[in-house]
Amino acid sequence: MTPEIINLLFPNPLPDIASIEAKYPPRSLQPGQKVTRVAPSPTGFMHIGGIYAALLCERVAHQSGGIFYLRIEDTDQKRKVEGAEEVIINSLGRYGIHADEGVDQNGKDYGPYQPYTQSQRKEIYQAYAKKLVEEGLAYPCFCSQEDLDIMRKIQEKQSLRPGYYGKYAKCRKLTDDEILANLKAGKPYVLRFKSNGDYNKRMIIKDLLKGDISMPENDLDVVLIKGDGLPMYHFAHAIDDHLMGTTHVIRGDEWLSSVPLHIQLFVALGWKAPKYGHCAPLQKLDNGNRRKLSKRHDPEANIVFFWEHGYPEKALIEYLFNLLNASFEDWKRTNPDKDAFDFPMNFSKLSNTAGALFDFQKLNSISKEVVAKMSAEDVFSAVLKWAETYQPNFADRLRDNREYVISILDIERNIGKKSRKDLLKWEDLPNDISYFFDDLFTTTREEKKTLIPNISEDLIRTISQEFSRIYNPADDKDAWFNHIKEIAESHGFAGEMKAYRENPEAFKGNVSDVANVLRVLVTGRDKTPDLYMIMKVMGTERVKKRLQDF
Ligand code: GLU
Repeated sequence: MTPEIINLLFPNPLPDIASIEAKYPPRSLQPGQKVTRVAPSPTGFMHIGGIYAALLCERVAHQSGGIFYLRIEDTDQKRKVEGAEEVIINSLGRYGIHADEGVDQNGKDYGPYQPYTQSQRKEIYQAYAKKLVEEGLAYPCFCSQEDLDIMRKIQEKQSLRPGYYGKYAKCRKLTDDEILANLKAGKPYVLRFKSNGDYNKRMIIKDLLKGDISMPENDLDVVLIKGDGLPMYHFAHAIDDHLMGTTHVIRGDEWLSSVPLHIQLFVALGWKAPKYGHCAPLQKLDNGNRRKLSKRHDPEANIVFFWEHGYPEKALIEYLFNLLNASFEDWKRTNPDKDAFDFPMNFSKLSNTAGALFDFQKLNSISKEVVAKMSAEDVFSAVLKWAETYQPNFADRLRDNREYVISILDIERNIGKKSRKDLLKWEDLPNDISYFFDDLFTTTREEKKTLIPNISEDLIRTISQEFSRIYNPADDKDAWFNHIKEIAESHGFAGEMKAYRENPEAFKGNVSDVANVLRVLVTGRDKTPDLYMIMKVMGTERVKKRLQDF
């Protein structure tokens, strides 16, 4: 192509290649150190699969003593969504997936290979596009959308592979005079790659996660630079992953079929391609069948789902570790106090290649364990933080009753094997503890009666009055329980379970029926944590008032 054409294609001054290469020098790495990146596009919500892949990349890099970085791939400006970038950055931060370089929460770049946002690297891509044009490896294409649609229809009609290749790559054959005339006429254009691949030849792709795969070579003349001057994903991928020194590209397997093209681009640019690994998307069971966790149909595909519902970050991250390496669970059992990020991941045993199954039951059970191990103060802080965003009224209540709520949370906490394991996400707490607050204690007389079957109203009243009279918060648990036993026995209930089991006919019921009367009157529920502790935390006045209020 003549210098005149090249000047018309690239009218603005561009940095020269040598200065770009000097600004982004190869990284100095020790043998074995790996450089990985997560390169999301801010086009919508953050998929949980994106966090899963980011965690894998982070582990591959950091476990090797290498570098993990974040790059924002925003060259598709039409699909860009306001706020999506913040969600990406916050997600990584929340889950402790630490990027050594990238963009921080304030949108500021950090690290030596800045900028890490592709739209700010326009001139770099253009400089390399210019180089390819000069070398005859790229050319301007003036086909309109309409031309491309017509071409596609012809290909469809003849049952041919769609795309801009071979004889369908019309602009590949334009003469310099024709190009010049089009440019002078102000015709819009894109820059395309001049592929030398042959679709009938095959190449072997070595995938880190999927093994060796045979694929046809790429013969598509893909767009390198769009009409708006920004690159298409493929071109930006090759340039950035070269300049930023990525050694291992681990990404979703929707990109697997692009690997022949990507390798071809690296070769055309004169660079060594990174190693590739493609992971299958997270799946879920739907009526017994596995299917991809879908953005459209599954609310849990969106990471914000877990924020809204208040899943502890530690629970989700442990769950993702568990999905990546099934042996994580055993390790955690033997190392209960270690951080998940200390887990020595076995990359040859990644269980994700077939598509890991996202399963709430497992997440919930991990979450219960995680919450059970937290101190009451830590639960309080985490719930408060959640409530400030998602339930401001509850946050006010928490702030106004800090000590009271912490003592509620402390019931049956950190008492070894018998510690409570009923809380798994913060959104459940407002309801779980509502009965501790008089304004939220709204159980009606009728509701209480249905929770105390087979005991007459008179007897309910008698039991509660008697207990109210002798209730002494200074009693230890045995003394407290003995009072309940005495009341039970004096009204024809068995005080001992053994006696009751031997001869149930001889009794109205047993001591637990009597305890249930007290439980229901005090809490409005027939299942609660330890009632002795509940009464202590609630305070004598409130307990007595509720017992007398029937
Ligand atoms: N921006 C691409 C995406 O969001 C990145 C793919 C890659 O990791 O190379 O899917």
